Amino acid sequence: MLEVTSPAGIRDILNRYQLACRKSFGQNFLIDRNIAGKIVAAAELQPDDLAAEIGPGLGALTTRSAGSAGKVLAVELDRGLLPALAEVLAGLDNVVVIQGDALEIDFDRLAQEHTGGVYGRDARQYKLLANLPYYITTPLLLRLLHEHYNISLMVVMVQLEVAARLTAAPGTKDYGALSVAVQYFTDAKLLFRVPKTVFFPVPAVDSAVVRLVLRQKPAVPVKDEKTFFQVVRAAFGKRRKTLLNSLAGSDMAIAKDLWKDVLHNCGIDPARRGETLSLAEFARLSDSLLEVRNG
Ligand code: SAM
Repeated sequence: MLEVTSPAGIRDILNRYQLACRKSFGQNFLIDRNIAGKIVAAAELQPDDLAAEIGPGLGALTTRSAGSAGKVLAVELDRGLLPALAEVLAGLDNVVVIQGDALEIDFDRLAQEHTGGVYGRDARQYKLLANLPYYITTPLLLRLLHEHYNISLMVVMVQLEVAARLTAAPGTKDYGALSVAVQYFTDAKLLFRVPKTVFFPVPAVDSAVVRLVLRQKPAVPVKDEKTFFQVVRAAFGKRRKTLLNSLAGSDMAIAKDLWKDVLHNCGIDPARRGETLSLAEFARLSDSLLEVRNG
């Protein structure tokens, strides 16, 4: 098996296949074996686990996951990289590389198709690993969560600043709609920081590895998930305004007087800022909206 975890190794294989690192695909390859090992270790892969990887690149994580998991499904967008990746993965017969866009692929169906229905929707849960291409981090994580894929655990490397948002507490500067969504669906923990110098080419910012353990049930019960997330987005829409003005100025098109009744009904001060509300308070607010609306 070929190890491509040094700048020279990456340059060599890219040259041989006449490739260049594609910035537009977020291609910053990991060149630190120790960190690759720590990411895979954090997923606690077992011989009967199915692991899905987003963006295998030149296989820094893939080769290690293959050594621990039963099977690895690696989804790579860049068609041009595939011959080089195939060389790196030669001999690993439990890895399947799928050319596709992680923003569009149905992961449950993919899991089902490649395991004869053992994993996927209404079947066994699988794990997800990625050194994420930064340009899709937020939409991708939101999609993976909102689609309710049958994933038990995600271990992802993201920009440090995004890692802070995923794990932020109410009232802090990093707390936003992304924090609420991630914490509603998962138990999120920042595991360790990763300096930018361990990537080739070196990106502009540092990174961090985050572990998201999917909850059996959401962190707070809500009457309607869609309304809950609409309210969360509306509350964070205008950060320097009061909660009441953010809600009334949002695209939910609900009159200010109705919002006053909703806030009064659930005992939340309309003069607060949206970013100070806990998940439980957002749940109360969205349930109260449903009650007041339905009379
Ligand atoms: N896993 C490798 C590593 O750790 O060295 C590569 C990580 S690199 C930051 C991100 C990888 O994701 C690249 O290989 C890139 O081509 C791929 N990628 C970018 N956009 C993607 C998408 N929408 N779906 C799947 N893969 C994507």
